[in-house]
Parts: sequence; C-alpha cells; structure tokens
Amino acid sequence: MPNFSYVQPRSIKEAIQHLSSNSARIHAGGTDLLGCLRDEVFSAKKVVSLCRLSDLRGIRMTKEGGLRIGALTTIAEVANNKMIQQHYPALSKAASEVASPQLRNQGTLGGNLCQKPRCWYYRGEFHCLRKGGDRCYAYHGENDYHAILGSGGICYIVHPSDTAPPLMAYEATVQVVGPKGSKLIPLQKFYVLPNEDVQRETVLKRDEIVTEILLPRPAKGLRSSYRKVRARQSWDFALAGVALALRFDSDRVVKARVVLSGAAPIPWRSKEAEGVITGKRLDADTVAQASKAALKNAESLEENLYKIPLFRGLIEEELSAIAKT
Ligand SMILES: Cc1cc2nc3c(=O)[nH]c(=O)nc-3n(C[C@H](O)[C@H](O)[C@H](O)COP(=O)(O)OP(=O)(O)OC[C@H]3O[C@@H](n4cnc5c(N)ncnc54)[C@H](O)[C@@H]3O)c2cc1C
Ligand code: SF4
Repeated sequence: MPNFSYVQPRSIKEAIQHLSSNSARIHAGGTDLLGCLRDEVFSAKKVVSLCRLSDLRGIRMTKEGGLRIGALTTIAEVANNKMIQQHYPALSKAASEVASPQLRNQGTLGGNLCQKPRCWYYRGEFHCLRKGGDRCYAYHGENDYHAILGSGGICYIVHPSDTAPPLMAYEATVQVVGPKGSKLIPLQKFYVLPNEDVQRETVLKRDEIVTEILLPRPAKGLRSSYRKVRARQSWDFALAGVALALRFDSDRVVKARVVLSGAAPIPWRSKEAEGVITGKRLDADTVAQASKAALKNAESLEENLYKIPLFRGLIEEELSAIAKT
C-alpha cells in the first residue's frame, strides 16, 4: 500500500483543518477506505481518523420524538438498538444484513452511507469514466450486477449501501460539518447521479464530515420494511432490494416512499410506484400496477436483464406483505 500519514484529531474543527489538504481522506471504520487505498482505486497522502471524536457516537432520541444517530455509530449498534428495532424496523433489518458480523462491528453508519461503489472495473485497474478516463468498461463488459435505472447511459454502478434506502424511505437528513459550519442535507439530495457528475457519489466536499443522521418521528399509521435479495445467503451486496415506508389510514396508503437498492447509481426512489399506491388499498391489481410502474423506465445491459422481473416480483411481494401487517 502506498505510504500516507495518519492523524487522529481530537475535535471536528481540527479534523476539518487536516482535510483541507487536497489529498486527505476521512477514515471511520476503515473497512472500505483501506481496501480502496490498498488497491489504488484512489490515493491519499494523509488519512484523517475520526476515532477520537466520541461526540459522533451513539443513538439518542430527539425532543421531537425522532432519533439522532452519530455517524461513528457502528452498523451492529444500529442493527441491535431497541428504539430502531421498534420504530424503524426497515433500518435495523437493513443494518443486520450488511456484510458480515466482523464488518458490522467495525463499519460505521456514516461510512456505510459514504462508501465507494463496487463496480469491479472501478475497483480494478481500469481507468474508467468514474476515475477520470474516457469510457465505461462495464457497458460492453461483465455487467450482471450493474444498474438498470438512473445510469444516464454514462456509468452503471449500483449504490452499495443497504442502510441508505430505508433511511431515505424514512426521510432522514444528514448533518454535515465543514469549514463554513454545519448544514442539514435531506438524504434524498445527498447522492449524485452520473449525469450530474460521474466522478462523485455524494454532494460532500473533500473537507466536509457527516456528523449525524437524523430520523423524523415515525408518523401515526407508518409501516415499513426492507428486503434484500443477494446471490448467496452469506455476506453479499444487494442484487435487488426494496425499502418501504408507507403511512396507512385504515387500509389505504396515504403517503408512500418506495426506495430500491441494487437498481441505480443512487438509492432509487420510485416515484412511479409511489404514485400508483398513494390513496389506494394494496389489492392485487394495485400492487401489480405499482411494480410495473417502478420498472417502466428500466433499461438492461447485456447480462442484467434478469433484474427487471426480479425487481417486479420483489416489489409485488413486499407491497402485498406490508398490506397484511
Ligand atoms: C466484504 C465486504 C462486504 C460488504 N457487504 C456490504 C453489504 O452487504 N451491504 C452494505 O451496505 N455494505 C457492505 N459493505 C460495505 C461496508 O458496509 C462498508 O465498508 C462500511 O459500511 C464502511 O464503513 P466504515 O466506517 O468502515 O467506512 P470507511 O471505510 O472508514 O469509509 C468509507 C468511505 O466513507 C468516507 N467516510 C467515512 N465516514 C465518513 C463521514 N463521517 N463523513 C464523510 N465521509 C466519511 C471515507 O472517507 C471513505 O471514502 C461490505 C464491505 C466489505 C469489505
Ligand atoms: S459502471 Fe461506472 S464505475 Fe463501472 S466501469 Fe462503468 S464508468 Fe466505471
């Protein structure tokens, strides 16, 4: 691995000062960052560890009845927290299905949201568009796991985080601190599509740190779920996944958030499916229409056509299941 200096600042202000140098990178649990540095996906002259920033750990209830989750809270803590299990079950389920127990104990929620994509060309030696090159190698290459929505015909990564889709479905916000102070960014506006900037995954600037993830108080009648399909039952990223956060009044959906994982370069909110189910009972006809609408704009590559029926079936099953809970 190329050499870098390693610092452990004791305050957020000090961390931000270290990050002002162009080739500095944030280190939280390091489960993604160190692999990227070792494989030279990108380089760093300085690695800025957040490990001494104890204010960034822990899960607290807000006075409005929502939750604040520190960015350094481990994924295992998120999965096992009783408040999250009770009020935000889609998030605890998603967290419990991230990677392996070892990675959940070491990886943090902030790092999970900011991790780099898993496209094997990007992770390998290929100087593709996302690394500043002139082509996408996946387009004519091995693209079984790649995107069917939102690529813009530019880059076909799928967003890798399991926790981001349920957090987006719950309308979470991230608190970001940088040299100009602190700001709140709805998760919905946090991720960047390839047609906006193919070399970035989030709106974060190099010297900005995610400090907290804020969840609003769950509304009356809210039901939620997360389901992930993967190629094998041990640790693996999502081939397809769906997070639902639906508010019911009696048996009718009055507000819907449907967010897909494994489908697009960002956690993909399906406004088409939401539009079909809002105001309706989730009967068989509505559920079938919603799953069809969600995939209306999907475009497959040579080897990932299977994802379209997979997502259709998954969305139908999950909507039917949530109607019965
Ligand atoms: C074998 C394997 C299997 C995996 N399977 C899954 C899976 O099934 N589902 C899934 O969701 N993930 C999976 N992952 C990814 C794993 O969950 C992430 O590596 C982990 O969540 C990253 O957290 P971390 O704290 O270790 O981040 P780090 O590795 O420290 O950082 C990751 C990236 O985020 C940036 N970063 C970290 N924290 C912050 C912050 N607070 N503010 C701004 N930027 C920050 C870093 O600079 C870096 O670029 C897998 C990883 C591995 C190695
Ligand atoms: S899908 Fe994106 S990351 Fe993968 S090779 Fe194409 S441009 Fe690079």
